Amino acid sequence: MKTTVQNVLKLVLPFVLMAGAYYFYKETSTLAQAQLDIIELSPYVIFAVGAVISWKFNRSRELFILVVLALVLASMEYLPGMTKLSFPIAANDIYRIISLLIPLNIGLFSLFRERGILSLWGVLRIGIILSQGLISVWLLRPEQGGLLSLIKKDVLPVSLTSITAVTQLSIAIFLIALILLIIRQVKYKSSQDISFIAVLCALFYVLHENRDPMMYAVFFAVSGIVLITSIIQDSYSMAFTDELTGLPSRRALKQDMMKLGMNYVIAMLDIDHFKKFNDTYGHDTGDEALKLVASVIKDVTGGGKSYRYGGEEFTILFPGKSVQDALPHLEQLREQIAKRPFTLRNRKGKGKSKSRRKARNNRVGKQIYITVSIGLAQKSEKHKKPDAVMKSADMALYRAKKKGRNCVSK
Ligand code: GH3
Ligand code: MG
Ligand code: MG
Repeated sequence: MKTTVQNVLKLVLPFVLMAGAYYFYKETSTLAQAQLDIIELSPYVIFAVGAVISWKFNRSRELFILVVLALVLASMEYLPGMTKLSFPIAANDIYRIISLLIPLNIGLFSLFRERGILSLWGVLRIGIILSQGLISVWLLRPEQGGLLSLIKKDVLPVSLTSITAVTQLSIAIFLIALILLIIRQVKYKSSQDISFIAVLCALFYVLHENRDPMMYAVFFAVSGIVLITSIIQDSYSMAFTDELTGLPSRRALKQDMMKLGMNYVIAMLDIDHFKKFNDTYGHDTGDEALKLVASVIKDVTGGGKSYRYGGEEFTILFPGKSVQDALPHLEQLREQIAKRPFTLRNRKGKGKSKSRRKARNNRVGKQIYITVSIGLAQKSEKHKKPDAVMKSADMALYRAKKKGRNCVSK
């Protein structure tokens, strides 16, 4: 339940922030000049904060999008009025180039794989941004007038100028970026893509409205906030999720244990002879087996919630339940795992030695069965605190191992 609320929040938050930007912009007409000056400066401050945060969290996508947004906003604000340039720049031409560069870069940088900031890939991306700047300046030179008009040219046989000032080419790039981001979001379900989608839509709206610098400032600032929020949200959920299995982590378990009420059961679950499994099939195959077991444990019935305690050990909490309540569900879980075959897959090139690789390759396609032992304990007069109940469950697990494994002990 809680996770669904969190997921919905993740999905809607960027759009709620953008709606906030819309209402805030409407209010700006009532503000004094000094306040407006602050708002006009705010996107740059937010971009700088966002750049530091993305740097710290090693999130190159957000960082580069923030850099692009800062450059775009600054060139829109300062280039048209510049007298030092050898040629005058029309605000209209800047607008057209920028409405191409915004979707192009959001699309490009959000689709690139995360490869770090201070890597060769990072430098390459900075190169991409710089070359766009150079190409833009070149396009803006008076003698290139013909090329610039190509951007204005209609792609479709109908003219949309009565509906929007955004060029058809730009609309096409916006649409392609949007579709690609939606596909990514459906596939990976990360809050990152949702925030990119929200920023993309909001900036299209601003370009379409193309009203005043204040509107640009407000929406660019909120775009920065949306990107920062997604970094924080993602790192928060990363801290509470186990990377390998996707189950809630030990940190989440510690937190949930503090919220347990009057009655509850704690179960400890441990894979049988897993060291031998690793030694026989290799650590990578061991990881795959862990994932498979975790996927079964995740769907435990009877109101239980599963966590990866660490290594090949898992914990299940049953809030408000007794041993009698939880026992059949754990028994069912044990059986499900024992009956689920794990098929060895071909892992070319992996493995410590050639002979071991060869031995494993000979077993490709073979089905292996994994078993688990489970110990459980409930809150009682003897064990009043969650830590004591967990210790008691651990002792029950030890008894299950002694009994011969692949069984549940209380
Ligand atoms: P028992 O039936 O008594 O539980 O025997 P066991 O071999 O499972 O017990 P033991 O705790 O001695 O070994 C656990 C092994 O689990 C040791 C380690 O190699 C393996 N292991 C722990 N974490 C991971 C992991 O993340 N990935 C893989 N592949 N192996 C892991
Ligand atoms: Mg163990
Ligand atoms: Mg074990």
